[in-house]
Amino acid sequence: MKIFNTLSRTKEEFVPLTPGHVKMYVCGPTVYNFIHIGNARPMIVFDTVRRYFEYKGYQVEFVSNFTDVDDKIIKKAIEEGVDADTISQRYIAECKKDMESMNVKPATVHPQATQEICGMLEMIQTLIDKGHAYVGKSGTVYFRTGSFKDYGKLSHKNLDELQSGFREIKVTGEEDKEDPSDFVLWKPKKDGEPYWESPWCDGRPGWHIECSVMSKKYLGEQIDIHAGGEDLIFPHHENEIAQSEAANGKPFAAYWMHNGFLNIDNKKMSKSLGNFFTVREIGEKYDLQVLRFFMLSAHYRSPLNFSADLMEASKNGLERILTAMERLTGLEGKVSGAELTAEENANVAAAKELVAKYEAAMDDDFNTADAVSAVFELVKLSNSTAGEESTRAYVDYLKETIARLCDVLGILTERKKEVLDSQVEEMIAARQQARKEKNFALADQIRQQLLDMGIVLEDTREGVKWKKA
Ligand code: AMP
Ligand code: ZN
Repeated sequence: MKIFNTLSRTKEEFVPLTPGHVKMYVCGPTVYNFIHIGNARPMIVFDTVRRYFEYKGYQVEFVSNFTDVDDKIIKKAIEEGVDADTISQRYIAECKKDMESMNVKPATVHPQATQEICGMLEMIQTLIDKGHAYVGKSGTVYFRTGSFKDYGKLSHKNLDELQSGFREIKVTGEEDKEDPSDFVLWKPKKDGEPYWESPWCDGRPGWHIECSVMSKKYLGEQIDIHAGGEDLIFPHHENEIAQSEAANGKPFAAYWMHNGFLNIDNKKMSKSLGNFFTVREIGEKYDLQVLRFFMLSAHYRSPLNFSADLMEASKNGLERILTAMERLTGLEGKVSGAELTAEENANVAAAKELVAKYEAAMDDDFNTADAVSAVFELVKLSNSTAGEESTRAYVDYLKETIARLCDVLGILTERKKEVLDSQVEEMIAARQQARKEKNFALADQIRQQLLDMGIVLEDTREGVKWKKA
């Protein structure tokens, strides 16, 4: 397998630190609002990377954080008159719902910055002890970039250029820096902000330290892959490398993967341009499987343009796969025979070539665009060769193969069943009747059935109310 490594700017053969295992860390969102469709891109892309490693037989440990202490969260908390924790917990829960709708698997661990302060204090102290960090007059702790000889190796920037670039930028409250390119590890509290006690001042962490600490705690000092959007290369990931490698004295991540940006109608997504969409908003117009399919239609490192036309094209593409799978399911009851015919054997050989094509595309730095083309070719083969005269063995082979390849892409091959309001009302009436007859076991069973269909009941004074979960 080849992976494009931002560190070397080349495609490299993937060699895991431990054979058969992959340790992967993906920087997650800052939780102050519903996630937007740009945030969805790394989620979908790196979930697909994870799924492909699993398909190849690797055991994947996948860690992705939630940044739950940040200026934007604090601002939103002040606006709403609640504490920061209320905001972050709310949007973590909403983000998890969106992930589920996009069929993004939960991480092995989803750490939160505010739960990991102890580890951050420890790593900052180690950096101070080793001379890689210092305490300014204000009690702010800074990383001394000049002390880390490899600073700039990820973003391919040189420290001299960085220092002169930063010279003009004066950040209020950071006047006590030794050098303009030094960055904050810990900063003093401001009125009304959440804070923690530390040996240097009451305050809170800078942004970068959390990922170094959480990655070390949950995956160890050295990991295989660290990933995120390309905007994180500098300064976030550059600073993570400096912190981790200076503190641990070992190389941090072997491979650095970055997804390209998602733009809207060829423009940068921004609220002020009015071209900003949350995943939730897109979910009102489309099944979020369409969004997932759309994201995988391009190579993850290319910029991707979001538009209504492209979403329609993805919807139609997905529909072609679902229809082919439905057709195969329909054939199941009509066909028999456990032995492939000679003609079917030849078709299976052709299908296996398409599977090989799919795997070659994925092995080549996760080229999902070409992998999707191989799935379409398989669908075409299925539509043109499977029918009522086929053997059951052939129909099963095609169905299982298409489903397996789609599963790696996180694409569900069974159409979601529409829940009809009338059906829900009928089941509620049956549950009420069961309760009247004191058959509580049946009433509970119906409630559970509704829950399985995604319907939540609420018993109120005005009667039973229901909503989709
Ligand atoms: P943030 O909450 O801004 O830290 O972003 C969370 C993740 O989403 C990071 O990996 C970002 O690089 C990524 N991201 C943010 N905006 C976009 C975008 N428009 N396209 C692709 N990735 C993005
Ligand atoms: Zn991070």
